[in-house]
Amino acid sequence: MDIEAPGEAKELPKIHRLDESVVNRIAAGEVIQRPVSAVKELVENSLDASSTSISVVVKDGGLKLIQVSDDGHGIRHEDLPILCERHTTSKLSKYEDLQSIKSMGFRGEALASMTYVGHVTVTTITKGQLHGYRVSYRDGMMEHEPKACAAVKGTQIMVENLFYNMIARRKTLQNSADDYTKIVDLLSRFAIHYIDVSFSCRKHGAARADVHSVATSSRLDAIRSVYGLSVARNLIKIEASDNDPSSSVFEMDGFISNSNYVVKKTTMVLFINDRLVECTALKRALEIVYSATLPKASKPFIYMSIILPPEHVDVNVHPTKREVSLLNQEVIIEKIQSVVESMLRNSNESRTFQEQTVESSPSVPSITNNESHLNPSPSGSKSQKVPVHKMVRTDSSDPAGRLHAYLYKKPQNHLEMNSSLTAVRSSVRQRRNLRETADLTSIQELINDIDSKCHSGLLDIVRQCTYVGMADDVFALLQHNTHLYLANVVNLSKELMYQQVLRRFAHFNAIQLSESAPLQELLMLALKEEELDLECNENDDLKMKIAEMNTQLLKQKAEMLEEYFCIFIDSDGNLSRLPILLDQYTPDMDRVPEFLLCLGNDVDWEDEKNCFQSLAAALGNFYAMHPPLLPHPSGEGLEFYRKRKHGKNPQDVGKSSCDIGDDIEIEDEFEHKLLSEAETAWGQREWSIQHVLFPSMRLFLKPPTSMAVNGTFVRVASLEKLYRIFERC
Ligand code: ADP
Ligand code: MG
Repeated sequence: MDIEAPGEAKELPKIHRLDESVVNRIAAGEVIQRPVSAVKELVENSLDASSTSISVVVKDGGLKLIQVSDDGHGIRHEDLPILCERHTTSKLSKYEDLQSIKSMGFRGEALASMTYVGHVTVTTITKGQLHGYRVSYRDGMMEHEPKACAAVKGTQIMVENLFYNMIARRKTLQNSADDYTKIVDLLSRFAIHYIDVSFSCRKHGAARADVHSVATSSRLDAIRSVYGLSVARNLIKIEASDNDPSSSVFEMDGFISNSNYVVKKTTMVLFINDRLVECTALKRALEIVYSATLPKASKPFIYMSIILPPEHVDVNVHPTKREVSLLNQEVIIEKIQSVVESMLRNSNESRTFQEQTVESSPSVPSITNNESHLNPSPSGSKSQKVPVHKMVRTDSSDPAGRLHAYLYKKPQNHLEMNSSLTAVRSSVRQRRNLRETADLTSIQELINDIDSKCHSGLLDIVRQCTYVGMADDVFALLQHNTHLYLANVVNLSKELMYQQVLRRFAHFNAIQLSESAPLQELLMLALKEEELDLECNENDDLKMKIAEMNTQLLKQKAEMLEEYFCIFIDSDGNLSRLPILLDQYTPDMDRVPEFLLCLGNDVDWEDEKNCFQSLAAALGNFYAMHPPLLPHPSGEGLEFYRKRKHGKNPQDVGKSSCDIGDDIEIEDEFEHKLLSEAETAWGQREWSIQHVLFPSMRLFLKPPTSMAVNGTFVRVASLEKLYRIFERC
């Protein structure tokens, strides 16, 4: 540390008053951050002046020229001298007016700011005048007396050489070519909200306008003319409102894109009380709904207008009024989120339905009773720990596999080599239709089952709770109102995944395995593991046979598994793709063998609905957030890793016999690896529970009534478990 020599102490900084022009320039830089902010202020002024036509011309991304012309009420001659002074406005006179302000401007800062960072010229004419006036401004002041000139109705404001006196900013902006794009984007947004105003925007000297909207009474028409047909034809109208002063008061209406609309970037046009604003929380909330509800990971197009009592909106939180803060923001967002979710889901379903009615398809052959004798071993039980050979279905030796047979009826006669393309097409269509007809009713019934069994009290807990942390390997601690609950994350995630399979049925995104995995080997692995668990001994030949039969069975079902469940098995019997049930989540791959065995053993391949249900359950169990197979590397769990270090683990004796002679350090390294593997696995699981499971449950889970009594939710009566959490920390 330096020690200052006496007498060398620096003089204390002196406080002085800033020159007003400096203050104004600093403030101007805040309000007018870039050309697009100037355009926004000018267009808002035109809208405040009741214009019905607004046109914008831009040169050099706005740095050379921004010109906004309107047909509004104009500016009175006597107001021109103070027009561009700071804090001069016609929209507000006392502070209380702010509470109910309807106009977009009120601070009287925009025009003033522009004169500090650019050259502003105003031409205006008011009603009943024979001529207009033109006057230029600099640093808030008129440069000369207003000059009489010919003018058309309204006001034209020209800003030239923006940031001429802010070299750094001008340089940065000159390098970024996207300001014109931003201006076009801004006007497009205004154009679809203010549909009774016509907007145009073009580059200086260009004949064609890049935004051109005419006043209309239809919002959809406006969207079509601005954003194009591809957007407009894929929109769903949405509405929501609430009028309960104790929770929220709002009205919302808008349009959102449906599942046919596939783009990579979200467009969210949001107006709150007719002001163009941004609300990141709402945008994010809606993106989550899209990514979780729709099959293709598409980003949405959203136009939304929200009307709130003016006193519920604080418009004065941001100098450019871009961000607003709302009363009861969370409640409003949640309500809008759930409306969007249900509209999307309905649109998804009705789309499939419409497609079916367009083309008539042969009705699905139903499974008749006399067929059921072919497979006399339906296993109602879901328990997995039954010796495999007792659970092998007669189905597995029946290559016809009935569900498969009727879903994939071969087109009968016209698939010869020389058949025309149309014939092939129509048969493909027929096949598709068959499948869609097949999936609709049974899947719909299963989804209806979920809805009808939903427990409203638990639903409330799931939606409103706060995740506190993991209490042990299986239970999470939640807070709901003033209560604490322990919730079994394995059960909850299993149910959530099951429900997701049914909701995303036939519309999954895929997880591609880095290497395709041979079913036969995986099944052998699973059988061996089961043997260890059950302590029964079957010879390897029998296991091989079972694995082979199951592989055959799954290969037969491959087409259906792929089409409906995105489980891809190639003709050589390798697994290479699995479905995504929740974005940002991949299941524990250590459980693949068990899952495959479960497909062979637990899935009912006979009846369509049972088949889909048991498949969804098998996937649910596989994707559930089970504790990792490696024990938690803390407390007693740590022993697992230490034991191996001393070579005392009896299971290790065989394995390590070939290592005799290796020095101890290699063993140490191996332990260290295993330990860090365990740490990563547990860490990842905890992250997923907090950041994927709970947010997704809040959105999608319909907890079944059974969860209220089967120990999935336990109200914490003692603090004992709580204590354990702290012990862990
Ligand atoms: P604010 O909009 O916050 O009042 P501005 O600096 O943007 O502040 O504008 C100052 C005033 O100039 C406005 O209150 C309005 O009376 C007048 N004005 C600006 N632009 C227009 C316009 N295009 N037509 C009519 N009046 C305008
Ligand atoms: Mg203004």
